[in-house]
Amino acid sequence: MVQSRQLGVPVLDPVANLDSLAFDNRFTAALPADPDTSNRRRQVHGAAFSRVEPTPVPAPSTLAWSPEVAELLGLAPELCASQDFAVVFAGNRVPAGADPFAANYGGHQFGRWAGQLGDGRAIALGEVLDRHGNHQTLQLKGAGPTPYSRRADGRAVLRSSLREFLCSEAMHHLGVPTTRALSLVATGESVLRDVLYDGNPRPEPGAVVCRVAPSFTRFGNFQLPAARGDLELLRQLVEFTIRADFPDLAAESLGTFDEAVAAMFQDVCRRTAALVVEWMRVGFVHGVLNTDNMSILGLTIDYGPYGWLENFDPGWTPNTTDADTRRYRYGAQPQVAHWNLLQLGNALLQLTDQADPLEAALDHYSQSYQRGFRNMMAERLGWARPRDGDDALVNELMGVLTSAEIDQVLFFRDLARVPVDRDGRLSDEELIAPLADAWYRPEELVGEVRARLAGWLRLWAQRVVEGGLDDEERRRRMDALNPRFVLRNYLAQEAIDAAEQGDISLIGELLDVLRRPYDDQPGRERFAARRPEWARRRVGCSMLSCSS
Ligand code: AMP
Ligand code: MG
Repeated sequence: MVQSRQLGVPVLDPVANLDSLAFDNRFTAALPADPDTSNRRRQVHGAAFSRVEPTPVPAPSTLAWSPEVAELLGLAPELCASQDFAVVFAGNRVPAGADPFAANYGGHQFGRWAGQLGDGRAIALGEVLDRHGNHQTLQLKGAGPTPYSRRADGRAVLRSSLREFLCSEAMHHLGVPTTRALSLVATGESVLRDVLYDGNPRPEPGAVVCRVAPSFTRFGNFQLPAARGDLELLRQLVEFTIRADFPDLAAESLGTFDEAVAAMFQDVCRRTAALVVEWMRVGFVHGVLNTDNMSILGLTIDYGPYGWLENFDPGWTPNTTDADTRRYRYGAQPQVAHWNLLQLGNALLQLTDQADPLEAALDHYSQSYQRGFRNMMAERLGWARPRDGDDALVNELMGVLTSAEIDQVLFFRDLARVPVDRDGRLSDEELIAPLADAWYRPEELVGEVRARLAGWLRLWAQRVVEGGLDDEERRRRMDALNPRFVLRNYLAQEAIDAAEQGDISLIGELLDVLRRPYDDQPGRERFAARRPEWARRRVGCSMLSCSS
């Protein structure tokens, strides 16, 4: 939820210019820095980060900025519209008080330990205090090479930057924990990319996104020193993270270090479970759930080849790089998150001889996810509270949803409009009518498929009646969890196609539509429409890769 004011919390004044941002760089002040300040690609040992400056670009121009993030940071609209804003958030000028750096982390990629990864193209400017006095890290993605760039160029293309910018904000407005995006700035420089890794690279326009989050620390930040046996660095990182990112735990647990580590891990497990429940609700498929793409704060982080589930298919992943095993498919996300937590737990175990609390936290993840999923389903289906027997009904719903090609966004949204048949007089026709739009192939809504759907709708309605909510209240609550508008893959692609031709109007329009995803917005129905036929097999819509 957007929360611009809170009682008892001071609202700081807007900043006069970008040199008066209130930087307070805790990460670089507290943790060991790489003594080598050259921007040469290398393995970095004994350090949590390397200081590195963004590489300037030829022609910065702001394509879009988020009004809510600007407001949070105290940046007035006139400031965001200024050329200095484009210059600073393209990385061409480092504002006063910043301490730019790239973080050092490792990770498991597609299940295999990959060693050092690090911020290969993201450069944090530092931490600023937002208007409520909270720390927010400003990070430029695509700002040029760093010591962690390996063989790549440190840049990002407009295509993937636009997707990251819009999706970060869309997720926030959906109520899903996420890193935010302040700005999308074109660089005026082209970048060579081979989208499908099939030997056909083409030059694409470049861009930089300024990402914003209280912390960009990933599971992989802990894994790397653990894998290298650098327990001193690992301990420093854990102590810093508890202090900076889990202040409630730090204040509460006057206990031992072991207890604090266990409490932090348990909180990470809890947050991650809550995050995955939200992904499953809105139909978000991250696409690359490597452990370097898992946030310690339980935020959605690193938008790459993600996608929105359109027709309900638990086996779907948008990421062609993962086509063979579909490790990161929609339906596997809860288990993958558990596996990733296990890797984090193993890293933390290096610091403590108490395995039991860490094991307990992992079990807690599973229970917490199950409970969260049941609560979420009961609420979005209009049943108010979960109860025994619901699982069978939800499983049957999954069967119905996979019995034909059915748009899950439209299905859940329109379910609230299905009449509740209190005395068994409605025909199948009348029950099904509000859902008809969700079928990609209306000719499939016949025979057994149709009978199964009608049968489920009758059971659903009976359960609604037992849930005891009156119809108006129930619809209101269902609508608050089943969005009308999500960033459908083809909508993002339309905005990319137009922007590559120089028309950026669709970026602004989508950003605006996605600010109120749960409201029916008359006149904007086109943004709620199911995927058109042309997008079914189009690269960028149903097929994405890690090339970005
Ligand atoms: P990702 O798949 O985006 O999570 O990236 C995995 C690793 O590759 C991270 O260390 C990234 O910083 C790095 N990386 C990805 N793209 C680039 C690029 N264009 N230049 C430098 N490093 C990159
Ligand atoms: Mg990443």
